[in-house]
Amino acid sequence: MYILHITTEAAPFAKVGGLGDVVTALSLEMVKKGHQIALLLPKYDCMDTSLLKNLKAESDSFLTEEAGQKYRNTIWTADYKGLKILLLETDHPLAYFSRKTIYGCKDDNDRFLYFCKAALTYLTNAQKTIDLLHLHDWPTAVIPILYREIYKSQGLNIKRTIFTIHNIDYQGRCSILNLNKIGINKETYFRDLLDPVFPGVINLMKGAIKYADALTTVSPAYEKEIKTAMGGKGLHYLLIENQHKLKGILNGIDTDYWNPEKDLFIAAHFSPNDPIQKIQEAKQKNKAALNKQLNLADSKAPLVVSITRLVPQKGPELIRHALLKTIEKGGQFVLLGNCAPDEIQKSFEEIQRLFAKNRHLAISYQYNEPLSHLIYAAADMIIIPSIFEPCGLTQMIAMHYGTVPLVRHTGGLGDTVFDVDTSKENEELRNGFTFEHPDNKGVDWALDRALDCYQNNQEKWQWIMQHGLKEDFSWEKSAAKYMKVYSGI
Ligand code: ADP
Repeated sequence: MYILHITTEAAPFAKVGGLGDVVTALSLEMVKKGHQIALLLPKYDCMDTSLLKNLKAESDSFLTEEAGQKYRNTIWTADYKGLKILLLETDHPLAYFSRKTIYGCKDDNDRFLYFCKAALTYLTNAQKTIDLLHLHDWPTAVIPILYREIYKSQGLNIKRTIFTIHNIDYQGRCSILNLNKIGINKETYFRDLLDPVFPGVINLMKGAIKYADALTTVSPAYEKEIKTAMGGKGLHYLLIENQHKLKGILNGIDTDYWNPEKDLFIAAHFSPNDPIQKIQEAKQKNKAALNKQLNLADSKAPLVVSITRLVPQKGPELIRHALLKTIEKGGQFVLLGNCAPDEIQKSFEEIQRLFAKNRHLAISYQYNEPLSHLIYAAADMIIIPSIFEPCGLTQMIAMHYGTVPLVRHTGGLGDTVFDVDTSKENEELRNGFTFEHPDNKGVDWALDRALDCYQNNQEKWQWIMQHGLKEDFSWEKSAAKYMKVYSGI
């Protein structure tokens, strides 16, 4: 089967969050099963092309029309671990993909609408037959409409289209003018895409839900949540109407990449199958390396961490509370949080000023892949107090590195973390601490029990660690479920 992903992220060379991890890991699993997989994404100036092999420009360039003007584009090809990578470069005067960032520009709608149109122009010229086109979140949501409206009649042959909702919070709201610019002018589309909440606004995700052949989302719990008024953010009626083509499939992690046995970024290696004492010794060495790197006190205190986009969805005020509580109780806290809006970053900077001389706390606002690996390997516990969480990968990566998750019971976190004291699941599945309400009391309930267990009941602590370490987070099971969706079963 020839499967093409049109995507705005692919880990590790163009990643902002979990979407990038999922696209690459799912694709690599499909390659193992003998399928031919390609990823088509913009050639961002900020992407790390050193990770790609055989990168070269195709000789034929092509034109894409936007608002009556034609702009030249070039496709670059490369290989990444058996995946074919196609990168779209454009001579557009607004330098759409040379902004030193993937998202966060005022004209993101125009940038990604243009990308979608140029991608389909390229595929049409290349006379490709695509068995399965897999699209991800709002930036590629216009593609099913563009295909129907313009490219199908020009000979592009796409047999089946799948749209995955990674996060329904970002729906791609824009205006009719944005659609006009890329040549979508029909009243029917404007009516179909009208935002259910904001009058007169166009909602791109709505179009993909309506026009894709199949829909997936990233966990069974999130599938249920997005069909409720609370979780659907205005799109719940449409999702209920289309539930026959919607399936929640839990994400996995790329266990070749996230592998504590050979991770290049950590100080001491271990296998999840090693005896627990050996794992704890290795984690202690990683902790010493991390403490040195971050200028923290060398300490046997429990290390609580957070690795996250520091945005409202992730409960930044609850992370702040967990941080203060950990320090108060004599623990250490490391926060690696990127994408923070100003007011959120300021509230953490205030804490940094208050604790300027305290060597039990380190906060960094960067996106730092190598540092994130060392933190997972060094930490005792990770706090994930999300307000909502479609799937969440950090809890799975953490468990695979012997770090115990403390999570709010929501979305995919509820599908993967089972409370050691209160869960109704079998004992061998209980792998962390959970809480229900997204408030300080909820955080305290999980954090107090975890710190107490770590300090006073090491036997139980090791038991929890082992349950996480033993779990199979690989993509194998989930990829088989995707295969069924791909095949229309
Ligand atoms: P989301 O996609 O909502 O950001 P996920 O839990 O699904 O959340 O995926 C987050 C991914 O991004 C994980 O691979 C995590 O390790 C990584 N990540 C998050 N924040 C950072 C950061 N500041 N630096 C490096 N990696 C990060």
